[in-house]
Amino acid sequence: MASYDVIIIGSGPGGYVCAIRCAQLGLKTACVEGRETLGGTCLNVGCIPSKALLHASHMLHEAEHNFAAMGLKGKSPSVDWKQMLEYKTDTIGQNTKGVEFLFKKNKIDWLKGWGSIPEAGKVKVGDEVHEAGNIIIASGSDVATLPGVEIDEKIVVSSTGALELGKIPKKMVVIGAGVIGLELGSVYSRLGSEVQVIEFLDAVTPGMDAEVQRQFQKIMTKQGLSFTMGAAVQSVDVARNKAKVTYKLRKDDSEHTVDADTVLVATGRKPYTDGLGLDALGIKMTDRGQIAVDAHWQTNVPGIYAIGDVIEGPMLAHKAEDEGMAAAEQVAGKHGHVNYGVIPGVIYTHPEVANVGVTEEQLKKDGHKYKAGKFSFMGNGRAKANFAADGFVKILADAETDRILGAHIIGPSAGDLIHEVCVAMEFGASAEDLALTCHAHPTYSEAVREAALACGLGPIHS
Ligand code: FAD
Repeated sequence: MASYDVIIIGSGPGGYVCAIRCAQLGLKTACVEGRETLGGTCLNVGCIPSKALLHASHMLHEAEHNFAAMGLKGKSPSVDWKQMLEYKTDTIGQNTKGVEFLFKKNKIDWLKGWGSIPEAGKVKVGDEVHEAGNIIIASGSDVATLPGVEIDEKIVVSSTGALELGKIPKKMVVIGAGVIGLELGSVYSRLGSEVQVIEFLDAVTPGMDAEVQRQFQKIMTKQGLSFTMGAAVQSVDVARNKAKVTYKLRKDDSEHTVDADTVLVATGRKPYTDGLGLDALGIKMTDRGQIAVDAHWQTNVPGIYAIGDVIEGPMLAHKAEDEGMAAAEQVAGKHGHVNYGVIPGVIYTHPEVANVGVTEEQLKKDGHKYKAGKFSFMGNGRAKANFAADGFVKILADAETDRILGAHIIGPSAGDLIHEVCVAMEFGASAEDLALTCHAHPTYSEAVREAALACGLGPIHS
């Protein structure tokens, strides 16, 4: 039996970042991971592999659609799917090995195997029981399924299966127009699949700014994806390597079927707590199956904490990481803090979509008086040169104080641009502060400044 100041269960972005921070704070730290490699969902079957495929397929799209116009002539590249998957696997390997290196560097013990908590202060891995001053659960999430739909990871796949299909399907049906569905749908659309997205609601990417939702759906449609909105999938039947998807339109209850070679079920994820023994410990859960924690990420059992996808809040890697650092500070007797009002969300399609803070819809609902400054990438010289002028930046600021309340961007590098606004919000900046900051020309970031200017006297280039 080994004894640690802290044992973390799960090595995803929440768990591994927490472990490193604990070690930096001088705590004797171990991290339990049941997978063969470190890094959790994000590095193995989430953020990283999906971004590799998005990058490769975007390169193909550029070659097919924009190279000739720039005077780059020649045959478009053809797709070697096996090689593309190898590139993806190699990218995963570099990242998971990187975490392994960081564990060694920080003297963190990787306890290999699936962990459970037989009692407070103890973690069992295999036959061994280890003592822990504090336990941090970072067990993440798993794919949520739909009633009437059985995932076989061959024909009917989750995001995990979609990252390693045997071949590029002729026809793919994506159930769910959320972030994962649209990212992976656009990968296969660019690689030549006919992609049909079936969504229960009337708008894509629920919870996002409505103007962004509309423009995003329009752009995705222009890129070749088709959308069936307001449709409830009833069942998916598989026969002879084909799937038949049956759905009902909510507006008139009419039933329809569509055939597909692959069906991607992208209807969300659920917290994963299997095998931890939480029931026996009496750990309180929320109605949605998440581990309930207080403002310091501690559960109702003293000395047991939880972070990341397994607790409330957006299921995002960087949210998990921030909680990981903050929880480490807490167990080290310091004051960890996460500003939940400034957590950016990004969709890595092309163009990218990014948001932070509140939406216009929320402000209207709350009766909050606000200004909206909007600027189209059409007025941005760099975006025009790069065939990337689809989209806009919208900044929302308080009508009286001019303090920035939120930002919504659809356009080139939106996922990077959003951080300028995040930093501004962390400092309690006004839209005028952004507008008076010199922005290098020609950069996409000038569009952010112009949107900030639009909250005042007006933008220059529109
Ligand atoms: P996880 O990453 O899920 O890690 C939990 C780990 O705990 C797992 O490795 C699991 O094996 C281990 N574990 C669980 N129980 C035990 C146990 N009892 N014993 C030992 N080990 C255990 N987020 C973003 O921010 N950006 C993106 O671009 C993005 N893209 C995504 C794309 C896809 C296809 C998917 C599926 C997700 C994506 N996400 C993205 C979400 C992101 O992956 C998660 O929010 C993030 O991984 C959550 O981190 P976590 O540490 O809470 O848990």
